[in-house]
Amino acid sequence: MTINRRFLLARRPIGTPVPEDFSLVEAPVPQAMDGSFVVRNRYVSLDPAQRGWMDDLPSYMPPIKLGDPVRATTVGQVHSSTNPDFMPGDWVLGLNGIEDYSLVAPGGFTQRIDISHSPSPSYFLSGMGAVGLTGYFGLTEVGKPRRGETVLVSGAAGAVGSVVGQIAKIKECRTIGIAGGAVKCRRLVTDYHFDVAIDYRGKSVAALTVEIAAAAPVGVDIVFENVGGGILDAALMNLAPKARIILCGLISEYNSPEKSGARNIWQLIVKQGTMHGFLIKDYVPRFAEGAAQIARWVGEGRMRIDEDIVDGIENAYSAFMGLFSGGNRGKLILRIA
Ligand code: NDP
Repeated sequence: MTINRRFLLARRPIGTPVPEDFSLVEAPVPQAMDGSFVVRNRYVSLDPAQRGWMDDLPSYMPPIKLGDPVRATTVGQVHSSTNPDFMPGDWVLGLNGIEDYSLVAPGGFTQRIDISHSPSPSYFLSGMGAVGLTGYFGLTEVGKPRRGETVLVSGAAGAVGSVVGQIAKIKECRTIGIAGGAVKCRRLVTDYHFDVAIDYRGKSVAALTVEIAAAAPVGVDIVFENVGGGILDAALMNLAPKARIILCGLISEYNSPEKSGARNIWQLIVKQGTMHGFLIKDYVPRFAEGAAQIARWVGEGRMRIDEDIVDGIENAYSAFMGLFSGGNRGKLILRIA
């Protein structure tokens, strides 16, 4: 292939992204020189966080520049190299872009991966990558679940949420998952072993508050929050004393120019609870340890990792938008080679 297809950010979305915010262009394959190397991206992670990177707002990463490919974690193989640490054919994980080929400058974030023990290279974007490890480190290091505690997970059928629910069960907690629709709620129980599944669709905060209370009559010890908005407000009304909230994501607010915020935050005072903003990047040095543990649980049949793989870079926009309508069934990954 001599053409590099690139999915660019053409303008900053206002609210919900529309197709005109992006453009798919063809460019020559970049040339490696002066210590750089070129990666042939094969799998691209589609993540809710990419929506935040499209805005020009203060964040933990600079905004994607207009005209640049949409930033994404990718798994691929070194195509050509002037860097002795990365040889053609090596499998690598890196923060690149939605494009066939990425030029990686010396010092850029890329690491070699050993795919020999992984069911698929794409696992480095799902269970054994940042997403699975968000669930692992967020729950075990911040939540510190104890046997018999009640753990409430929003976005529970998704990539992070399904991992959190399964680990909470392995830690012998009682688990309540919140997801959208009957099909996903069934899967929470059958596939991810949640004790209770709550369908949030079409329900008011008051109705959700009542449903969570019925599932956790003495309150929730740990809330793993992926969604925010009314779901977080209902969770706040059901805290056990000294509850811990792991604030991992607020996907219900990512496309809203006006952030709604949690209204029931006063419950943290009432219950002497804590809310901890979590970012997986703090745990990068411990990725190998977390990935090994997840691989062990998967190998023992105690955990499953689901991937939703969409083929073709031309489907990047529609696949990405599925994250905001609940279209994905597992970790959403774009296969581009
Ligand atoms: P998912 O696989 O969970 O996909 C997103 C899901 O969110 C959808 O399938 C949908 O599920 C749900 N959703 C979307 N919009 C809404 C809405 N308005 N209200 C309620 N639910 C909604 O994505 P991930 O597992 O990758 O990410 C989950 C969360 O974790 C995100 O908020 C993400 O930003 C965050 N995250 C944070 C990290 C960190 O370091 N802090 C790292 C990685 C992820 P449904 O059908 O149930 O509605």
